[in-house]
Amino acid sequence: MAISQCPECGAIYSQELSCWDVLGLIIAWEYADADLLREHFLTVASYNFQHPTQFTDTALVSLWSAYTEYLDNQLALAEIRRRVGQAHQGATRVLKPAAERSPSLRRWTMTIADVYDGGQAEGAAERVRAWARSIRDER
Ligand SMILES: [Zn+2]
Repeated sequence: MAISQCPECGAIYSQELSCWDVLGLIIAWEYADADLLREHFLTVASYNFQHPTQFTDTALVSLWSAYTEYLDNQLALAEIRRRVGQAHQGATRVLKPAAERSPSLRRWTMTIADVYDGGQAEGAAERVRAWARSIRDER
């Protein structure tokens, strides 16, 4: 029944979908779901941690510090934006050159496919929070 499997996070789809496609679909749900919109940072950051190939180590370290503070200490989003923006200014590279990227498969308890849940928009914000907590524990 599986049609595609993600080479990075191991998510399995029964349709022709990639995790990148699914991220776009979930972000589109935010327009109709204020609770989900509030978790936009967790959605995008969680996606990035499960698909880290394109990012430099420095970018991932600064994002992880904001992510864990948000989850553990409810760090304000304005403060996160300030810090991540600062870290990404100037000469700091966020993306690795394409030639240095080599995806490797890692298994997780939850992936973005579980948040998408076959296209089930209802309850997505709660699933994003559960997804983020599982990454917080497993990374
Ligand atoms: Zn994936």
